[in-house]
Amino acid sequence: MEQEKGFYYTCIRCGECCCRPGSVFFTAEEMKKAAAMLGTTVKSFKHKYVTDKLVDVFELYTESSCPFYIEEEGCSIYEARPLQCKTYPFWKNNFTSQEALEKLHDECPGTGEGEFFSVDDIVDRLEKNQREFIFNGAKKG
Ligand code: SF4
Ligand code: SF4
Repeated sequence: MEQEKGFYYTCIRCGECCCRPGSVFFTAEEMKKAAAMLGTTVKSFKHKYVTDKLVDVFELYTESSCPFYIEEEGCSIYEARPLQCKTYPFWKNNFTSQEALEKLHDECPGTGEGEFFSVDDIVDRLEKNQREFIFNGAKKG
């Protein structure tokens, strides 16, 4: 019998996705929540962390680790982390080709173990996440 196509994944909280160069995007509302969680103002959050302002989101680019990641503790704004972080690794670009999937396997040690996600499950997740991103972007902070 042919094995059902899909992939295994569980977050093992290794922090690797938080500890590499890249961008984290916050909507105004997400930034407000993150600033509150850090006990600071939005103005100060922007001044300290935001590297660019795009149409609807604020970009925080880092050449090393996310500034909110604390070694051996994890994300210091976990409850207020942006949707981008909540939905990883179920991002469309991670499932567009075999190469993209292999790259994801290299980047996220949680892939290849844990819960099985069939192709239909993955499509459902991607569509749900996409809807949330659109809705999130439409909300005003
Ligand atoms: S790299 Fe994968 S397993 Fe590790 S914390 Fe990020 S999502 Fe979880
Ligand atoms: S906000 Fe939190 S979950 Fe997102 S990249 Fe930074 S440390 Fe990781």
